[in-house]
Amino acid sequence: MMKRSKIQKPVSILLGLLIVLSMFAGLSLSALAADHVHHLVDHAAQSPTCTDIGWAAYQTCTDCDYSTFVELPATGHSYGTKGELRYTCLNCRFVNSALKAQAQKADDEAAAANVTAIINAIGTVDDSDACGKRIDEASVAYNRLTDAQKALVTNADTLRQAEHQYMVLREGACKYCGEKHDSSIGGGITAIIHTLLYHLLHFFGKM
Ligand SMILES: [Zn+2]
Ligand SMILES: [Zn+2]
Ligand SMILES: [Zn+2]
Repeated sequence: MMKRSKIQKPVSILLGLLIVLSMFAGLSLSALAADHVHHLVDHAAQSPTCTDIGWAAYQTCTDCDYSTFVELPATGHSYGTKGELRYTCLNCRFVNSALKAQAQKADDEAAAANVTAIINAIGTVDDSDACGKRIDEASVAYNRLTDAQKALVTNADTLRQAEHQYMVLREGACKYCGEKHDSSIGGGITAIIHTLLYHLLHFFGKM
């Protein structure tokens, strides 16, 4: 009785250690056999993409779980700073709709701010050619905008009023609203009437 228990105890401790070791190493018990030589297979490297993982060249063993595989994380999309590259991935051409909307909003605001500045540059209206040129430039710039951009121009009335005043000063009457030089009342009401008729004439002119 005494002899048997003395032999069994060290053996069971050794077996227990082996199991624990094999669990930690992630290896099967057979792989721990002293005579195991890995049969290595080479695997080519795969670069990660914007959305997929990659890996460096690695080796695996055909007979055990040995592997040197190391995952390389996906790189994520990368964007530029100008034009459509602000929302189109430089690597895979993926279009980010949220960034696109943001970029278009910024473009609309910049275009509107540019035209607002051109209209402000008209200044006091007189009957000079130079003033007429400034008004024409502002009209062309404004009409080139999209409807969304026009809505962001804060001084469109100033432009309409300048067109009106210039025509009255230069030609004696406004060809849109018909107001004569003598009866020029100026101000906001004139601009509103003028704008209304200006738009009506433009609308029918296009039909
Ligand atoms: Zn192996
Ligand atoms: Zn990408
Ligand atoms: Zn007018």
